Amino acid sequence: MVKAFVAKSLDDCLNILNQENVKIVAGGTDMLIQNRTHSGIAIGFKTDVLYVSLVDELKHITEDKSNIYIGATCSLEQILENNLVPKILRDSILEMASPAIRHTATLAGNIGNASPAGDSLVCLYLLDAKLEIKSINSTRYQLLKDFILGVRKIDLAKNEMITKIIIPKINFDLVYFRKVGPRLSDAISKLSFAGALRMENNLVKDIRFAFGAVNIFVVRRREIEEKLIGIDKKTIKDMSDEIIGYYSEFIKPIDDQRSNKLYRKEVCSNLIKEFLEKI
Ligand SMILES: Cc1cc2nc3c(=O)[nH]c(=O)nc-3n(C[C@H](O)[C@H](O)[C@H](O)COP(=O)(O)OP(=O)(O)OC[C@H]3O[C@@H](n4cnc5c(N)ncnc54)[C@H](O)[C@@H]3O)c2cc1C
Repeated sequence: MVKAFVAKSLDDCLNILNQENVKIVAGGTDMLIQNRTHSGIAIGFKTDVLYVSLVDELKHITEDKSNIYIGATCSLEQILENNLVPKILRDSILEMASPAIRHTATLAGNIGNASPAGDSLVCLYLLDAKLEIKSINSTRYQLLKDFILGVRKIDLAKNEMITKIIIPKINFDLVYFRKVGPRLSDAISKLSFAGALRMENNLVKDIRFAFGAVNIFVVRRREIEEKLIGIDKKTIKDMSDEIIGYYSEFIKPIDDQRSNKLYRKEVCSNLIKEFLEKI
């Protein structure tokens, strides 16, 4: 029989994770769907579970000079309503699920689920987000891009959990997020795009592009972004064909029930154009 543990504090979580072989459940909005059986029948978890959503210590959003810290049990709705959180991340959360799901679901859960269509991931990659990961005897920090190892694969030991999502503070002049889905709420992305730009003396100082659901990982290529630094405003606006060309080898969507690869590739090109037109 499957056992369910309910943690009331971070210490509880870390002790249980250390002693038992459990799978973490936060909001449960992915876990319950992935383990559902038939209508009206209890969820069929395959392993023991640890419910963490009552852990108050991880329900805070704080800041210091350099970063914003989002606790792992903060709900998406709590994050959406907090002005410390960068606008582009709130823009992506606003398009996730529906208000009812957002009151339960967490950002740590979206990360832990490691789906190529996870909507927050595009913005978190764009913002160079890091994770604080704890076990009973260690705390480590890891860039999100290194934590996600593949579809539903993450770099997390059995006795570890994500405790905070850390977002560096950066001021951009322009940020842009678009989720392309069949309808406004409760829709899984066909693809998503995030862009950010900072200019200095009319020249590009920092430019970032991230694409979701068009490869196993979110596509973000530093080497392409670096080629564009120092270009003036008028020139960068006219460079869409060149930039689309740079990304074409990395945007490798698949055909599935939500969309097909031709459509996804074409829309990525249109979104690059749309972002550059806003400069
Ligand atoms: C109707 C519906 C609509 C949805 N719409 C969207 C959408 O538009 N966009 C989107 O991206 N997603 C969507 N989802 C998926 C889901 O809501 C999100 O992925 C959500 O962020 C998951 O958070 P959770 O807290 O419920 O995770 P859970 O289901 O509790 O956990 C998900 C995974 O993360 C792990 N995990 C959770 N917390 C931690 C932690 N602290 N440390 C380590 N691992 C952890 C769990 O072990 C599990 O593997 C939708 C789901 C539903 C049911």
